Amino acid sequence: MVLAAGADAPGARAIAARLAEAIARPMDVCGHRLAVRASIGISVFPSDGVGSELLVRNADIAMYAAKRSRTGIDVYHPRMSARLARRVQLADRLERAIRHDGLELYYQPQVSMADGTLVGAEALLRWNDAELGQVSPDEFVPLAEHRGLIDALGHWVVARACAQLREWEQRGLRLPGRLAINLSPRQFDDPDFADRLTGHVAACGLRPDRLDLELTESGLMADPDASLTVLATLRTAGFSLSLDDFGMGYSSLAHLRGFPLDSLKLDRSFVRGMLEHRHDYAIVVATMAMAQSLGLELVAEGVETRAQADALLELGCRRAQGFLFDAPLPAEAFARRWLLQPEPVEA
Ligand code: C2E
Ligand code: CA
Ligand code: CA
Repeated sequence: MVLAAGADAPGARAIAARLAEAIARPMDVCGHRLAVRASIGISVFPSDGVGSELLVRNADIAMYAAKRSRTGIDVYHPRMSARLARRVQLADRLERAIRHDGLELYYQPQVSMADGTLVGAEALLRWNDAELGQVSPDEFVPLAEHRGLIDALGHWVVARACAQLREWEQRGLRLPGRLAINLSPRQFDDPDFADRLTGHVAACGLRPDRLDLELTESGLMADPDASLTVLATLRTAGFSLSLDDFGMGYSSLAHLRGFPLDSLKLDRSFVRGMLEHRHDYAIVVATMAMAQSLGLELVAEGVETRAQADALLELGCRRAQGFLFDAPLPAEAFARRWLLQPEPVEA
């Protein structure tokens, strides 16, 4: 902690910048060159607090904001407290929602673009909180990872997805292909993850060959060797594996070759731009060629127009998911639209 008597916010920022620079200088420790980076949060007397306790607390809040900033330095602002308060509230309510079944899974069809038939589906989390309203999984999934709730959340998703498949099957409705569920890279931190998942699916009375597991590139690349072990176990157990949001990360092609994958899901940003932007189109072409030569299925995400579907088909991409075919739907609506065969008409 540094007390800078008489400094205003710009003055404190300048001191922080000099400190950060000094700290960032590499050090030699036992023959190893070590570099450390500091994150510095600043609070200013009296605007950010008149007592030391509040000043320290607000500097701490600013420090967390600083961790996300480019410079690693940030000055406290009341909006930071509001953001923190929302995150704390979200985390509390999310934990309750996981425990009390306050979440829901929606199902989005995956289709064969040539004839529009159903070839699988992806399960997507929805959370409609009584106080907070609809919260996007893009907001609460990262929060669950951060707050140590991801195991419980992931567990809930698998249980719900399996129960749904069973329920449909008992009603004589069979989902063709597999149901895809999203895995968070944090779930791989648990060394027993593969065994637990397999046991869990068996306990629900299902075989792993009913499920496809979607993983992200950045997740796998965080620790490629550890990921490889888990993936190999999952694949041997009978799950199929898809690489999600493909093209957004910075995968090493050499590593990709080594992973036991079944399909690549082309990120929807490329599909969105492919007919207008030469570069997006080039990436789609290259990805398709790579998928083909590695023997992987390419699934296009976010297909919204017939023109996109036609262009993808032309390139040899057969499977897709997107609003053109259907949005993610509640289980019952999905079953009605996609699983119920129309009754044959009596002659
Ligand atoms: P994602 O895995 O890439 O899921 C596809 C997202 O694209 C979904 O957003 C879906 O609603 C949206 N989408 C589908 N078709 C179209 C289209 O034609 N156009 C556009 N613009 N968007 C389309 P959603 O449901 O909001 O989910 C966001 C992300 O949250 C997911 O991205 C996934 O990363 C994460 N997520 C969702 N459910 C789970 C889950 O059960 N577990 C984990 N770990 N993450 C999940
Ligand atoms: Ca996905
Ligand atoms: Ca995706």
